[in-house]
Amino acid sequence: MTLTLADVTLTYPDGDGRLTALDRISLDVPAGTLTAVVGPSGSGKSSLLAVAATLVTPDEGRVVVAGTETMGLGRAQQAQLRREQIGIVFQQPNLLPSLTAVEQLQVMTHLSGGAVRGARGRALELLDAVGLADQAGRRPHQLSGGQRQRINIARALMNDPAVLLVDEPTSALDHERGAAVLDLLVALTRERSTATVLVTHDRTHLDRVDRAVRMDDGRLTAAEPV
Ligand code: ADP
Ligand code: MG
Repeated sequence: MTLTLADVTLTYPDGDGRLTALDRISLDVPAGTLTAVVGPSGSGKSSLLAVAATLVTPDEGRVVVAGTETMGLGRAQQAQLRREQIGIVFQQPNLLPSLTAVEQLQVMTHLSGGAVRGARGRALELLDAVGLADQAGRRPHQLSGGQRQRINIARALMNDPAVLLVDEPTSALDHERGAAVLDLLVALTRERSTATVLVTHDRTHLDRVDRAVRMDDGRLTAAEPV
């Protein structure tokens, strides 16, 4: 299993008490498959991704990424694991305004200590994979919202992660563009053999995914039919 959450509980401080954001969550995601997590706002979906990304340490439970037990790792080791094994796509693309599309991807290699120049070929290959080969020289303001989200996705794949975590990528897009982004994520999951978790409150495209689970008040409930 490429991503495993086992009996994960996460609480946040809340006044005098604690708010349980994740309540004994268990989830297994095999390589090359996409699991969608649906559920209302505030149900804990982003918290689940944050724990899977090792950005937040749960109170209890285990998180295993590409065979590595992450709970025993120090912060520096977790950061290295994140760089090497985890691609994260947040809701807002957060592209750097002054960089071209291909440079947005090359920056990822720079941040991991690699040679930026050598990363250009891979960056162009990934832009091609997300359908933006002809936009490599454009800056964010010259691109549409959907194109920016595709760059965001390509950027997350730059270090060839085993796990791809995507938070509400279609929420700012219209129905058609949202469907296209979801198709792209399914295709990339297959091609790149990532264990992909997609958080969405949009249930209209769930026929495209391998599995859908529902989050309610910090609990994962029965799988949704897909
Ligand atoms: P979703 O992504 O499904 O909207 P979240 O994971 O963002 O849900 O939030 C789950 C619950 O945890 C909500 O009640 C939210 O208010 C709370 N929460 C999220 N992040 C924090 C935080 N950093 N500190 C305190 N409470 C938080
Ligand atoms: Mg959220």
